[in-house]
Amino acid sequence: MSELISNLNYVEQDLARLANLYQTTKPRLVAVSKYQSQEKIEELLKAGHKVFAENLVQEAMSKWSGLKERYKNIELQMVGHLQSNKVKQAVGLFDVIASVDSIKLAKKLKDEMDKQKKQLAIYLQVNIAGEQQKTGFSVAEISEAIKIIRNELGFEIKALMCVPPNEANPVPYFAKLKQIARKNDVKECSMGMSNDYEKAIAVHTDEVRIGSLIFGKRIK
Ligand SMILES: *Cc1c(COP(=O)(O)O)cnc(C)c1O
Repeated sequence: MSELISNLNYVEQDLARLANLYQTTKPRLVAVSKYQSQEKIEELLKAGHKVFAENLVQEAMSKWSGLKERYKNIELQMVGHLQSNKVKQAVGLFDVIASVDSIKLAKKLKDEMDKQKKQLAIYLQVNIAGEQQKTGFSVAEISEAIKIIRNELGFEIKALMCVPPNEANPVPYFAKLKQIARKNDVKECSMGMSNDYEKAIAVHTDEVRIGSLIFGKRIK
């Protein structure tokens, strides 16, 4: 078995172990394939893995257009900041926009989905620690944004997503996201990456997004 597949198996088993330990449902595993080659991705597809994420539209287009033709029932998520001028391509390619970070972007997505007659799921990204360099709705504005995006744009918001600060203990941030989701009746949370997924599972995340633990260290 290749190292890549044994990493994937290891992660899946660890998610099952932790879900059992923390008495929750095993979270969905999103394989974050940004900066990874098409060959590596295809190896995971052949092994039956179906949920992936990218953070750049251009890169995702070049790697995934062909793969999505050949492999059906794939779920491809966009997890990076989506610029307005890439919305059209993004709606054409992705199945989930997991990084909706403004009402303006949600509106653009809605218009484009109507135009292309294609329904994508959306997650709202929360800038959970109020970091300067990160996009996302602030904790102060998220509840109002959820109302507007639901009631005025007619979206069902599938999940809330966050990336906590690098150095800090992520537990209070994960707990906060969970609390915001519950308060606003959003069913799922997407949180937890290679370095902190155990802590996200401890607060019962529904989805983890893992890159380097599966693929090995990224060059970028
Ligand atoms: C890169 C990335 C991940 C995966 O990070 P790893 O530390 O490699 O597991 C998860 N979520 C987002 C939004 C990312 O950009």
